[in-house]
Amino acid sequence: MQDTLRPFEADVGRVLDIVVNSLYREREIFLRELVSNASDACDRLRYESLEEPELLGEEPELRIHILVDRGKGLLTVRDNGIGMNREDLVANLGTIARSGTARFLEALEKGGKEGLDLIGQFGVGFYAAFMVADRVVVLSRKAGEERGWIWASDGRTGYSVTEAEERPPRGTAVTLHLKEDAKEFLDPERIETIVRRYSDHITFPILLEVRPKPGDTKTKKQEPRQINSASALWTRPRNEITEEQYREFYHHVAHAFDDPYLRIHFTAEGVLSYTALLFVPALRPFDLLDPRRRHGVKLYVKRVFITDALDSLLPRYLRFVTGVVDSEDLQLNVSRETLQNNAVVARMRKALVRRILDALAEEAKAEKPDGEQADGDAGAENGKRRSWLDWWRDFGPVLKEGLIEDAENRERILALARFKTTAETGWTDLEGYLARRRPGQTAIYYISGENAEALRNHPQLEEARARGVEVLLLDDPVDEFWLPEVRAFRDAEFRSLTRGEVDLSAIPPVEEAAGEEGEAALAGAELDRLIARMKAALGDAVRDVRPSKRLRESPVCLVAEGQGLDMRLERFLLQHAQIGELSRRILEINPRHPLLRRMAEMAAGDGDGEEFDELARLLLDQARIVEGEPLPDPSAFSRRLSRFLAKGLAPA
Ligand code: ADP
Repeated sequence: MQDTLRPFEADVGRVLDIVVNSLYREREIFLRELVSNASDACDRLRYESLEEPELLGEEPELRIHILVDRGKGLLTVRDNGIGMNREDLVANLGTIARSGTARFLEALEKGGKEGLDLIGQFGVGFYAAFMVADRVVVLSRKAGEERGWIWASDGRTGYSVTEAEERPPRGTAVTLHLKEDAKEFLDPERIETIVRRYSDHITFPILLEVRPKPGDTKTKKQEPRQINSASALWTRPRNEITEEQYREFYHHVAHAFDDPYLRIHFTAEGVLSYTALLFVPALRPFDLLDPRRRHGVKLYVKRVFITDALDSLLPRYLRFVTGVVDSEDLQLNVSRETLQNNAVVARMRKALVRRILDALAEEAKAEKPDGEQADGDAGAENGKRRSWLDWWRDFGPVLKEGLIEDAENRERILALARFKTTAETGWTDLEGYLARRRPGQTAIYYISGENAEALRNHPQLEEARARGVEVLLLDDPVDEFWLPEVRAFRDAEFRSLTRGEVDLSAIPPVEEAAGEEGEAALAGAELDRLIARMKAALGDAVRDVRPSKRLRESPVCLVAEGQGLDMRLERFLLQHAQIGELSRRILEINPRHPLLRRMAEMAAGDGDGEEFDELARLLLDQARIVEGEPLPDPSAFSRRLSRFLAKGLAPA
C-alpha cells in the first residue's frame, strides 16, 4: 500500500533547516539522540509491561542494537521497546512532538541573536539524523499490535508512511542512508567510541554488529557484542564514576549541553530509601521563566523508569533541577495518577529540597557577598565555575518564587539571595546589609522600580543617602510579590521607601550632610496653608499632599499609601491588565526646597491664584515623570513648562 508524500508540519521544516545548516559542529551527536530515543522506548515498554506482562512476549530482554552495513552504507539503530503505529509515526516524526522544541522555536523567533545562542543548549532529537543522512527509514511495530509501519523521508520534501509487508519484530529500527561526507560513521571503532562517550550510562545493553563490504577481507564480520556497561549510573559508587560519565548523563537527562553548575549524588537510607542524582545547570535554560516549564527529574522505582512528569516531586521554584530519583519504597506497580498525592513522594520531596538548598548554600558561602570567590576549593569537583553571583543573576528570579511557595524554607532562600544595593559593593546579601546598618536603624530599606540604575537617583532615596542608610534596589518584578509575604529577615523588617510614612530621623546624618539640617524649613501655619492650597489646586488628581521626610534636594515625589500596593507593583499589574487603573498617589513636598518656600509665599497672598495652580500641576507631573508614571495630559504639561520657562527667561 503506497502512501503519498506528506509535507512536514511547517515547524519541522524549520527545525530541519537549522539542523542541517549549522546546528552542530559535532555531527556525531546524532547517534546519542537516536540511542537516547531507543532507551526511552525501552523504558516505556518496561513500565507498560508492569501491568501487561504479555507485552514483552517472546522478547523479554530489552536492548538496543546498532548495525553497521558497510556494503550498503547504512547505519541502523534498532530497539525492541514500545514501538510506534501509524498514528504515532505521523504525530511524533511529522510534527514537533516535543513541547520543548516548539518553545525553542518560539524563543528563536523572539530572540533573534540571543535565540541562536540558545541552540547549543538544545537537543533536536530525532531530526539530528538528517545531519548525516540524506534518507531516513523508520520501521516500527508497536508492542501489542500486529501491523508494522514504514516511515521514510529525505528530510526536505516531506515524508511517507506505508504498511510493512512482513510483520517486523517489536520496536523501532531507524535506518540512516549515510551522506557521502558521513561515511566515517561506518567505522565500527568510531561508533564504539561515540557510544562510550555519550551513551555509556544507558541502562539497556547496546550491541554493535558489523557487516563488512562484500569482498572486503580486512574487516571481519562481527557478531553483535555489547559496547556499553548498561548499569544505572546513579547506582554505581561515586568514586567509580568519571567526570565525563557524569557529564554525559547530565546531557542525557537534561537535554542540555552545558556543564552542570552543581551535582548532587547521594543515597538515603533510613525512614526513606532512595538514590538521587541531581543536577543544577550552569546556563539558564531558555524557557526558565516560562511558567509551563517543569523540573526535569525522572522518577525510577527500583531501577525501573516510572515517569518524568511528576510535578509533586519538586516545587515549581526548583524547575531548573534535572536528574534521577530512584525509590526503594514505592511499589513498582504504583500508578502514575496516584503518585501526585503519594505520601512517600511528599517526604522525598521535602528531603530533596533540603539537599538542593544546602548544596546551593555551600556555593553561596564559598563566595563573598560582593561576588569575589573566597579561598578554598569548594565545588572544585564540578570543574569550571561560575561565581555564585553570576549564577544567582540568572536563576535568582526563579528561586525567589520559593519565598512565596515554600514558607518553610524561606530563611534558607533569603540567605541565598543577592540584591543590588546603593552600597559600594553593588550587590549584597542580607547578612551583609544587616551588618552595615547605621546606629538607630532597625529596618531593611528598599526601593523598587523597573530599572536599578534609574533607582539610584530617585528622590525618595535622598534622605536615606544623607543619613548613610543603605538601600536595596529591587528591579525584579517577582520582588513585589514576595515582599508582602516575607515582611522581615531575622529581626529586621523590609520597608519600602516609596510607600507609607518613612521616618529616618532616629538615624544620625552622615557628616557632610549634617550642615543642611539647619536650613529653614516651612512649618506650622505656613506649611498647613501651602498644603491646603495645593490640595485645592490638585483636587482628585492626588490622594493627599503632605510634607516629606525622605526628600533633600528634590522638591516633590510620589509615594503610595501605607496599606496599599507599592507603586511599581501597581504599574506591573496595570501593564498585565490585572487592574483597571493606578490608585491615586500621595504627593510629598520638600518643605526646605526654595520652590516650595516661594509657593508658600504665593499661597499667603491672594493674588496669583491661577499661577499657583499651574505650578502645583507642573510639580505633580514632574513627580510622575521621575516615578516613571504616565502623564494624563502631556500637552498640558508641556504648555505649563514652556510658560514658566519663558517667564524665567524674560528680561526683568
Ligand atoms: P524527544 O525524544 O526529545 O521527545 P524526538 O524528536 O527525538 O524528541 O522524538 C520525538 C518522539 O518520537 C519521541 O518523543 C517518541 O515519542 C517518538 N520516538 C522517537 N524515537 C522512538 C523510538 N525509537 N521508539 C519509539 N518512539 C520513538
